[in-house]
Amino acid sequence: MRVCVVGGGLAGMLLAWRLVRHPGVRVTLVTGAPGTRDSTAVSGGLVRGFEADPQAAELAARSLQELRASALLREWSQYQETGSLYLLHAAPPLRRLIDVDRSLPGSVLILDRRELVARYGFGGLPEQTAAVLERHAGYISPDALRHGARADFAARGGVLDSTDLRALDRPEGGELGYRTGAGRGTADLVVLAAGGWTGRLLTRLGLPAPQLRTKVIQCALYATAGDHPPPFVDETSGLYGRPAGPGRMLLGLPTDRWDTDPGQRVFLDREERAVREAAALRLPGLALNPPHHFTAMSEAYAPEGRLALRAALPYPSGLFTFTGGSGGAAKTALAASSAAAGELLAPIPITEGERS
Ligand SMILES: Cc1cc2nc3c(=O)[nH]c(=O)nc-3n(C[C@H](O)[C@H](O)[C@H](O)COP(=O)(O)OP(=O)(O)OC[C@H]3O[C@@H](n4cnc5c(N)ncnc54)[C@H](O)[C@@H]3O)c2cc1C
Repeated sequence: MRVCVVGGGLAGMLLAWRLVRHPGVRVTLVTGAPGTRDSTAVSGGLVRGFEADPQAAELAARSLQELRASALLREWSQYQETGSLYLLHAAPPLRRLIDVDRSLPGSVLILDRRELVARYGFGGLPEQTAAVLERHAGYISPDALRHGARADFAARGGVLDSTDLRALDRPEGGELGYRTGAGRGTADLVVLAAGGWTGRLLTRLGLPAPQLRTKVIQCALYATAGDHPPPFVDETSGLYGRPAGPGRMLLGLPTDRWDTDPGQRVFLDREERAVREAAALRLPGLALNPPHHFTAMSEAYAPEGRLALRAALPYPSGLFTFTGGSGGAAKTALAASSAAAGELLAPIPITEGERS
């Protein structure tokens, strides 16, 4: 079987890496032009097991389980186990914690508002605030993980085409023809994993792009002093952040900039000011100097809110998308790519040798 994966971000890269490990599967990864700044390059890389959405949580917990169990993945991703705090309006149902505990035994603890104030100096929290504290969580470099997987992909015989996909032929069934900057190729399956570019790519190819949207994620790196919290997400204010070395923190708030050009990287001062206001309220013991590194990047959002394989046309066109990370795919990409590879190769029987 020949598979062409389009997009060399974390999603496409890990999917191609999963696929190339199967004997009998020939994989070409069309990465896009070298040096394109994508979500993977600028990602905050927070990884944890708990997510508000139960299905995303399952993927996140399984990804972290695989990462922690593999010395190779820990090294590639530069995993830092710093712990993680997820602040919620109220304590989550117990069964949600049991789910996380299944993949990450002994990692999870619930803190109430009083403990959040006493331990971390959080301020202005609503009365019912509770937090999921995870010991076995932290952050990775998604960019470094992609580079590790890329080298291994090439060493296993995967073909790298560092140009753009330009055209597709006969997407209605049978073998698919495609054209990239490097020339023409054919494949049995083509997977578009072009992140925020996927919707426009589908449109340009004359195909429907159902409900794939883009939204800007903006954050900044601050020189800091005072009390530094561990990596955290605060649903009560929207503020999220993580330490980024001694005396430095990455902080951001969700934006409302939908349907932006995927290449657009406009950093808005008013959004940055809102971050400082939220941080002053929630983290009164943390002093922030003006930011010295700015990030604004369009990311792919799907209605389900998570990275997943979807048929781009009715079965059996052989054309799929693998995108929709919705601002959180660094933490789910390992498990999501494993599931997607399984779905794509379902008709091929798996032998023992392929399980390693
Ligand atoms: C600022 C920011 C902070 C984030 N923080 C976190 C976090 O803390 N934790 C977390 O879990 N997630 C986080 N995320 C989300 C996570 O990083 C992304 O969901 C993930 O990296 C998306 O990977 P991707 O491969 O889908 O997309 P991308 O990384 O955007 O890759 C898409 C690739 O497709 C290529 N491409 C485009 N068009 C074509 C074409 N025609 N042909 C070939 N290739 C093409 C592009 O060049 C690009 O390399 C963050 C995202 C951003 C933007």
